[in-house]
Amino acid sequence: MSLYPTLSHRNEEPEKGVLYIVGTPIGNLNDISNRALNILKNVSLIACEDTRQTKKLMSRFSISNKLISFNQHNSYKKISSIIDNLKGGYSVALVSDAGMPSICDPGEDLIINAKLKNIDVICIPGPCAAITALVASGMPSSNFCFEGFLPKKKVEREEIFYKISRNEQTTIIYESPHRIIKLLKELKDFCGGEREIHVSRELTKKFEEHVGNTIDEVLSYFENMEVLGEITIVIKGRKKSEIEKFNKPILKKELCDLIEAGLSLSAASKYLAKKNKLTKSLIYDLY
Ligand code: SAM
Repeated sequence: MSLYPTLSHRNEEPEKGVLYIVGTPIGNLNDISNRALNILKNVSLIACEDTRQTKKLMSRFSISNKLISFNQHNSYKKISSIIDNLKGGYSVALVSDAGMPSICDPGEDLIINAKLKNIDVICIPGPCAAITALVASGMPSSNFCFEGFLPKKKVEREEIFYKISRNEQTTIIYESPHRIIKLLKELKDFCGGEREIHVSRELTKKFEEHVGNTIDEVLSYFENMEVLGEITIVIKGRKKSEIEKFNKPILKKELCDLIEAGLSLSAASKYLAKKNKLTKSLIYDLY
């Protein structure tokens, strides 16, 4: 049961007061859907990341409509006027330069605000680089982790690399071509050069390229060339067998119990390490 009212039926014409989130191609303009074109043609106005980019798409399909700019620099100021338009009965479409709005693109805050004001939000799905690369990679794809662009700060980056190194799920990352070598080296440090990886470059475009298998192989492929274009990276999860077959909280409790009972840390660790076939230092770390 829905907790808030939803529209009872959806015809193909935009409805008054509805915010449409419209997915657009990530390179190949033929990937636009008929529904997306229809909405872009018939809404009251289109909020877009870069009006020049959206104009190119619209002129390719002989569509014209009112465009307003909505990007990471002005979204904070524009949200309230877009909401006012929606409240006033206008229909609004949101597009980004490429792919799904709100996925590492502007849109998230507008959608949150629209929902808070009980405005209907309808997503017209379209291509997304993360999903396209994931499926093309052939890696497990029903349970995955999307990290988007990694943070720049070393400490925050390392936290994510540590998480990836231990994650059994497939992970997807967006990265700029200028930073791909640095990223691959960092991944190697945390996951080892043998971890499987799949780099998709220029998806859906003329020079689409897929490079795999291990981090070591991908690194040596890209290392001595100028990497250009857009890149999405898919990293295979860590094999189950590689993850320690012990339960940290339980082990930590056992360790504390032994120490409380009078054993020294060293003796308790030695006992537990032997019992669980682990190294003593690993048990020390728990304490
Ligand atoms: N909202 C977009 C989506 O749905 O995919 C993503 C926008 S984000 C600002 C741009 C990043 O997505 C690029 O830096 C790249 O990592 C990835 N990307 C976008 N288009 C791509 C393509 N054609 N091939 C590979 N990666 C792409």
